[in-house]
Amino acid sequence: MAHNSTNNVQIFNKPRVELHLHLDGAIKPETILYFGKKRGIKLPADSVEGLMSYVGYDEPRNLTEFLEIFSYYMPAIASGDRDAVRRIAYELVEMKAKEGVIYFEARYSPHLFANSNVIPIPWNQKPGDLTPDEVVHLVNQGFQEGEKHFKIKARSILCCMRHIPGWSTEIVSLCKKYRNEGVVGMDLAGDESLNCKLNSGHCTAYEEAFKSGIHRTVHAGEVGPSTVVKEAVDVLKAERIGHGYHTIDDFCLYKRLLKLNIHFEICPWSSYLTGACDPDLMKHPAIRFREDKANYSLNTDDPLIFKSTLDKDYCIASKYMGFTEDDFMEANINGARSCFLPDKEKEELLLTLYEAYGMVQSTVC
Ligand code: ZN
Repeated sequence: MAHNSTNNVQIFNKPRVELHLHLDGAIKPETILYFGKKRGIKLPADSVEGLMSYVGYDEPRNLTEFLEIFSYYMPAIASGDRDAVRRIAYELVEMKAKEGVIYFEARYSPHLFANSNVIPIPWNQKPGDLTPDEVVHLVNQGFQEGEKHFKIKARSILCCMRHIPGWSTEIVSLCKKYRNEGVVGMDLAGDESLNCKLNSGHCTAYEEAFKSGIHRTVHAGEVGPSTVVKEAVDVLKAERIGHGYHTIDDFCLYKRLLKLNIHFEICPWSSYLTGACDPDLMKHPAIRFREDKANYSLNTDDPLIFKSTLDKDYCIASKYMGFTEDDFMEANINGARSCFLPDKEKEELLLTLYEAYGMVQSTVC
């Protein structure tokens, strides 16, 4: 199915909130080329078009092929270049401001940007000394600079990785350390077939996050089954679910999560390209979520790889799922209500949306 006609059309010309967005999947190709050249790191191509033919795609691929893409370009950004980390954070704020987003939460694994030995260091580079802690500090700096210039709000969620439970304790410590400097929560990302054994690093870290008031989301029920969603809510005490499409396969669980008002971070175009859902978008679970007045938002996930902006997701929701202007307002209000900002800032964000959507009288004279 081709969806090219859904590109570059703004369907909902009002302020938006985005909650599910990966920093490492939202880098400008020009910036990848710049740092590749500056650092002498070989990339698969030396032009934007050439690079995008390796990095971007618009027909479904499997998870292995999707994950492979990061290895084409992440060595140019990760493993030691402080300017690169700060700059991609700054540029993401610029990118989102252009899309009409007034508040976003972007997530990333600080370990994957640091010298973690996971992303191979190119032969001509010395191992650097960039720690996960410093990565978080640099991203915070980039976001703060971006906020000043583009007058929108940007916050971070730090990711634990399913295949490396040993990193999770440090993630919750970093969430605590930087909770007043831009970090608002934690996530668990990666291969959903790796479930969380009791007392594993993930369970301990999520327990500690719960006790310390650190907000929690988990990628679950994207390609994985509803049991992963159940584990996320019951064991990891997740307040939000990344994707969560397969929740609807278990009616009892779905009903319970509706009652608990658990938020689903839906990514329509991403779910088509990763094969998470039926390729017929007119059967997408988002339609069910909307009909049942579930708590959900619309998000891009990895716009670099999916060659998209938030407009693409809104266009798909409008064209194939029957979303109306009211539905988009509802999804954004849901996003603001379920965001991880402190209560006072959340109220301010909600008020901004209510005013922009004509739901209250503006207080500005
Ligand atoms: Zn994601």
